[in-house]
Amino acid sequence: MKLSVVIPCFNEEQVIDEVYRRLDTLLKSYMEKAIIDDYEVICVDDGSTDGTLAALKRLAAADKRVKTISFSGNFGHQPALTAGLYHAGGDMAVSLDADLQDPPEIIEEMIKRCEGGADIVYGVRDNRQEDTFFKRITALAFYKIMTLMGVNLIYNHADYRLLSRAALDAFQRYGEVNRFLRGMFPSMGFKHSIVTYKREKRFAGTTKYPLRKMVSFAVEGITSFSNFPLRLAFVLGFVNFIAAVMLGLWTIVSKLKGISVPGWASIVLPIYLFGGIQLMFIGILSEYVGKIYMEVKHRPVFIIREMYNFHDKDHGSNP
Ligand code: UDP
Ligand code: MG
Repeated sequence: MKLSVVIPCFNEEQVIDEVYRRLDTLLKSYMEKAIIDDYEVICVDDGSTDGTLAALKRLAAADKRVKTISFSGNFGHQPALTAGLYHAGGDMAVSLDADLQDPPEIIEEMIKRCEGGADIVYGVRDNRQEDTFFKRITALAFYKIMTLMGVNLIYNHADYRLLSRAALDAFQRYGEVNRFLRGMFPSMGFKHSIVTYKREKRFAGTTKYPLRKMVSFAVEGITSFSNFPLRLAFVLGFVNFIAAVMLGLWTIVSKLKGISVPGWASIVLPIYLFGGIQLMFIGILSEYVGKIYMEVKHRPVFIIREMYNFHDKDHGSNP
């Protein structure tokens, strides 16, 4: 069994050597214990402007198990992870942040779960004590909003996860350009398992996720997985339309009762009526735009986990 470890690195020169040292000792001990037969460490340099790439090249020259992918510029954390996973040649791949906040020591447990039948093993932190108050509440709000919109997310799971070959192959078939991996993996199906761990402080350096990147990450997550904001137009329009109908009835009643104000109905009613009708049709349009949007993603329609007794001329003999 060969293990691939994928690490996105953006301006991480201060931590690279330490990550390598920790992983090297750990993974060699796994080989001695025959947990794995071999491994590779794929570092993706996401357009760093410091000495990260030089450090990675140095490591790659000294150890052929270290592989480096370097981007032409800063594409972001998710694209970096994607590139690493696409190039992972192992039977299992685990993705890990460069800053050692997620302890690599739990990989052993992740591998066990995977061998026990889980195709996706999520690393979940047991608390958020290391985060600032601001990061904690914004993260909680984000999970709540996503759940309300019907997106399946694993609470307190970042991008520390192990994937079986089957899950890796499935991942390669997702054609979408906008990538929000935390939403993609739970939507794939497959058996999964959760390993909890205590999140450490960043080993060195500062966070590479300033507020600006956090906001765009959240918007990406919502709009990549949910049509809900588009549907809002229809709901509002419908409510407006019903209100206009009620108002119309009211003008007739007030006319009969003799308490109507001249000119009121002819001005106010059309505002509500046409406002409602317009919003409703924007809502209907949105439904179609939403369909097109889902379609252009070219997501796989189904994902096969395994096949049995399939020979060339013998289709459909799956037990
Ligand atoms: N990262 C990246 N590209 C970016 C931002 C971050 O590849 O544009 C990497 C970064 O090097 C780290 C991981 O993504 O390995 C997570 O970033 P960080 O630890 O700074 O985020 P935090 O833990 O503060 O949320
Ligand atoms: Mg971090």
